[in-house]
Amino acid sequence: MATEFLRSGQSMSTLSVKKVGSGVLLQYGDVRLAFDTGIKGEITLLSHSHSDHIRGLRHARHIIATKATFDTWSARSSEPANNTTEVEIGDMFGQIGVNITLLNAGHVLGSTMFYLEFDDGLTVLYTGDFNNVDSLVHTAARPIEADVLITEATYGTASWIFPNRREVYERILDAATSTIEQGHTPVFNAYSLGKSQEAIALLQSGGFRVISGNLSIDKVCKVYKDHGVDLRHYTMKSVNVSDALESGAVVVSSSFRHTINLARHNLEKKSIERLEQKTEAFNLSGWTVGKYAERGFPLSAHSDFEGLLSFAKTVNPRVAYVFTENAGSFSKHLSDIGINAVPLE
Ligand SMILES: [Zn+2]
Repeated sequence: MATEFLRSGQSMSTLSVKKVGSGVLLQYGDVRLAFDTGIKGEITLLSHSHSDHIRGLRHARHIIATKATFDTWSARSSEPANNTTEVEIGDMFGQIGVNITLLNAGHVLGSTMFYLEFDDGLTVLYTGDFNNVDSLVHTAARPIEADVLITEATYGTASWIFPNRREVYERILDAATSTIEQGHTPVFNAYSLGKSQEAIALLQSGGFRVISGNLSIDKVCKVYKDHGVDLRHYTMKSVNVSDALESGAVVVSSSFRHTINLARHNLEKKSIERLEQKTEAFNLSGWTVGKYAERGFPLSAHSDFEGLLSFAKTVNPRVAYVFTENAGSFSKHLSDIGINAVPLE
């Protein structure tokens, strides 16, 4: 999808933004940049290391991201990144024809948006995944004005409105308390990168003993701790984990099947039976509201519909390119408020 931009006293350049693989390829004049996807011979700007953003990156000529993004990537992958450059949030670096600044995206540890300033003055903001709400372990993304916005729209239809995060936190803590009072073990299902760490931080702040149910969560927690986040939890290999489980602990799991497997290798028989027979599971996900209505609580690492909309209003772009599954719907909403929007599908 191409848009022409005419600058006073400048020749006309055409901006091209295309969906390629797991991300986007941008071309403006002689500048070509890939975002969250690997394209042979191209430079990739990587916003974070969730698996739907790192596809094909072995093909990339060079990958630019924060140290935390590379650290969380290598914590979860057997294929570490090659040809990398670390740039930190707030820092600017230059490519021929463009300056690029990394901005906090609030989504997971080290996640970034990219703000591009081309030599002719055109500005572009690429969001990756972002959250415009503060959490216990991540700081909210802040919008910045730009001529062009390339934005995610995961929750880009009007039905996706999340309650205030404090309220969600209280509901999670209340569920943990009442489940334990009934003699069961609460299991909170959450992605191993980002959501699990927020859940652990929340539950530890509520005074619960927290057990992480997966090695992948443990590895990512270590990265968070290395980057200064205070997380304290038992692993399935901790010395007293069976005692903790019997006396009212909570489990955070990214795959309960794997949690059970780990339990069979590490825990006493009574603890394995407890996990197999006396648990109450809750999903921590935005998908717990709206049409899917999974059982659990709407703890999301993404902005909700209102967050996406207010963010785009502040960016105030001349054109917005929208990706992810609700791109078509969110583009219509943006058009309704006067922002020229194009779904990338
Ligand atoms: Zn993500």
